[in-house]
Amino acid sequence: MSKGKLVGVALGPGDPELITVKGLKALQTADVIFYPASDIKKSGNVSFSENILKQLNVDVPSLPLCIPMTGKNRETNYLKAFQEIQIELDKGKLVAVVSEGDALFYSTFGYLLKLAQDAGVECNVIPGIPAFIASGAEGQRPITEGNQALKVIARPNSFEEIEEELKEKQTLVVMKMSVLDNWFDFLKTQNRPFFYIERVGTSQQYSTTNVMDLELRGIPYFSLIIIYG
Ligand code: SAH
Repeated sequence: MSKGKLVGVALGPGDPELITVKGLKALQTADVIFYPASDIKKSGNVSFSENILKQLNVDVPSLPLCIPMTGKNRETNYLKAFQEIQIELDKGKLVAVVSEGDALFYSTFGYLLKLAQDAGVECNVIPGIPAFIASGAEGQRPITEGNQALKVIARPNSFEEIEEELKEKQTLVVMKMSVLDNWFDFLKTQNRPFFYIERVGTSQQYSTTNVMDLELRGIPYFSLIIIYG
């Protein structure tokens, strides 16, 4: 049983000011901070979390946790990452692991938390603003109102799947939308209002509600779409 403690700290979606007060305090009091890093070229960032973390100017040693986002050897990759954390926990350290957006919403931290719980480590999780909530604010349109339902899906398999969801009178949020090509062709056939956004909260933020803007646009990993109900 480790003497150390693990705290998952949600960083918010990209704007460093969107971390919670509690999250920032947890980072400032940690002995060491780990941030997930991958080597995917497509995202344009080796570590989105590191970018946010740097801007918070926290004076605590921070180390990358190399977690390839390939989906292959997932279990082994998480286990290896957890072993690095465990070295610090065994020294009795207070270890923070950061997560962009919320910490338990389609997040790497979810897997690490499970491993830590199984190892009997004392854990704490500090929530944060997920990217789709920040996107809703940027869109300046209510995500849901009255008795309207909301559904969030991630990494859709096909546009047919999305079409099925849109038969319901609900707002649909699609995360990891870059797995599908031809959003332009699909959205052209729909007559629902939508809000598309890339890299919310960063200096590279881009958003549109106009389908024509997507005709020639490559869709990056850090993008999502809200299709209003
Ligand atoms: N934990 C995050 C989700 C991570 S899953 C959260 O709470 O929001 C990664 C997906 O989240 C991306 O593919 C993208 O769909 C979305 N995402 C995360 N950060 C984003 C950002 N800054 N701008 C747009 N989409 C983002």
